[in-house]
Amino acid sequence: MIVIGGGLAGLAAGVGLADSGWRVRLFEQRPFLGGRATSYVLPDGEHVDNCQHVTLGCCTNLEDFYRRVGAVNKIKFFDRLVFLDTQGRRGEIKAGALPAPFHFAGSFASFAPLTLLDKLSIARAMLHILLSKGDPPDLHEAPAISMLEWLRRRGQTKGAIDRFWRVVLVSALDEELDRTDARFGVDVFWKAFLSNNTGYRMGVPSVPLSNLYDGCKAEIERRGGEVILRAPVRGLKIEGGQLAGLRFDENREESANAYVFAVPHTALAELLPESVKQSDPSFANLDKIKVSPITGVHFWFDRPVMDEPFLTLLDTTTQWIFNKSLLYQSAEDQLQPAASRELENPSSFSVTRHSPLATRHSPQYLQLVISASYDLLPKSRQEIIDLCLAEVRHALPRARVAELVKATVIKEAAATFSPEPGVDRWRPKQQTAIPGLYLAGDWTQTGWPATMEGAVRSGYLAAEALLRASGTPKAFLQPDLAPDGLLQFWLTNP
Ligand SMILES: Cc1cc2nc3c(=O)[nH]c(=O)nc-3n(C[C@H](O)[C@H](O)[C@H](O)COP(=O)(O)OP(=O)(O)OC[C@H]3O[C@@H](n4cnc5c(N)ncnc54)[C@H](O)[C@@H]3O)c2cc1C
Repeated sequence: MIVIGGGLAGLAAGVGLADSGWRVRLFEQRPFLGGRATSYVLPDGEHVDNCQHVTLGCCTNLEDFYRRVGAVNKIKFFDRLVFLDTQGRRGEIKAGALPAPFHFAGSFASFAPLTLLDKLSIARAMLHILLSKGDPPDLHEAPAISMLEWLRRRGQTKGAIDRFWRVVLVSALDEELDRTDARFGVDVFWKAFLSNNTGYRMGVPSVPLSNLYDGCKAEIERRGGEVILRAPVRGLKIEGGQLAGLRFDENREESANAYVFAVPHTALAELLPESVKQSDPSFANLDKIKVSPITGVHFWFDRPVMDEPFLTLLDTTTQWIFNKSLLYQSAEDQLQPAASRELENPSSFSVTRHSPLATRHSPQYLQLVISASYDLLPKSRQEIIDLCLAEVRHALPRARVAELVKATVIKEAAATFSPEPGVDRWRPKQQTAIPGLYLAGDWTQTGWPATMEGAVRSGYLAAEALLRASGTPKAFLQPDLAPDGLLQFWLTNP
């Protein structure tokens, strides 16, 4: 069988199928694996992630995948999330001694950036989620409602929306609240914050992202398969309505008895012949799935400017600051030789060198993340650097006296599909009407938004569909985290 695309969806499908005895050939157009969740080496030798990626404790399939490919120990989990507003007030979210769903009661009560009124309104909305067991009736309305509408119906204060709901959800879902289906927003709070006390824990890779996938190639090859890089699929060979093969450069063709297309929906729409698009409504609607942007800003300072592993900023363009130097600290020796992961398109990066690297202090590398960064798309890289640097210097006093040695900006205009209200009706299932043709990708029908967890789920679902059709069914999908604390009694004894 053939997998097209070496992102998390294709890798999860490929590793799962190889593990089930299939000879998998995986074709990836780029010189490295990982798709959007990968890292490169800049021309100056610096390792940068395409963008900081984080996982949560509730992402059970991603964890299973990391375990299968030997990457699970490269993810560090943190149980304290720190928020900082422009007046220097801090708040933290950390599970306390009380059982779920009251495990955040202590940290929420002392959360300084929110007023008492904000907190009361948030508590009221949380109660709605809780009493409906994560499934409030208005999530089933047609047409689907936005998260902002759902919050307004629950009388949320402006402070609660701007400094709590928006902060968590724009980062988790990469979209503004008025363009987010309320179902995704409510699900984040149910799965990560309410139903158990570990789902919110944040997992951050302690290595550059592409180091997480070394085990995938080995796993596929160990079962007699191959991973072929720099191998873009250029077209499909359709004969009598069936997929008969794939076209590559130089008129090369490859065929197999089954194919998993694990490419972004925009790439699939370009590959599919018109006749195939018309034959299956799930293909005809691909262009209705919109995309949203994420911008990553990388700063190298000449000295340490922050101690925390990461911080969430409130009321600023910059949403998260990750202390990459600290996060990588224990993993320096795990870096791969630069040559194996060279930058595919160095011109898409702009590295602004401010001065030669100072040596008096140990330098510090920070990565900033701005999700749903529509406003930054038209701005120049220097404008973005200036804006974010001013915010970092305001938030971190030591950065005011530190020298910015180097900076780079990575704009991903089509970072994820937009979780807009009703988007699920355009997302196709992994099994298609064309025999032997399966789909995977965070944008397929997974029930999840565009995340690494969603991508792995889609790969597992594609592998399950293929094995079912071939008469050798096998389950890969992992269950959600079980409710714990008081909820385990309430949900099992309604
Ligand atoms: C900037 C940014 C930040 C993000 N942050 C997070 C985060 O913190 N947490 C999180 O969970 N998710 C995050 N995401 C989302 C996450 O990266 C994606 O949901 C996930 O990686 C998608 O995986 P995929 O396999 O579905 O698609 P992709 O990763 O896009 O993989 C598709 C692969 O197909 C290949 N391909 C395309 N066309 C062809 C062709 N013709 N022939 C051969 N190969 C082809 C591509 O090169 C690519 O490798 C972020 C995404 C971005 C862009």
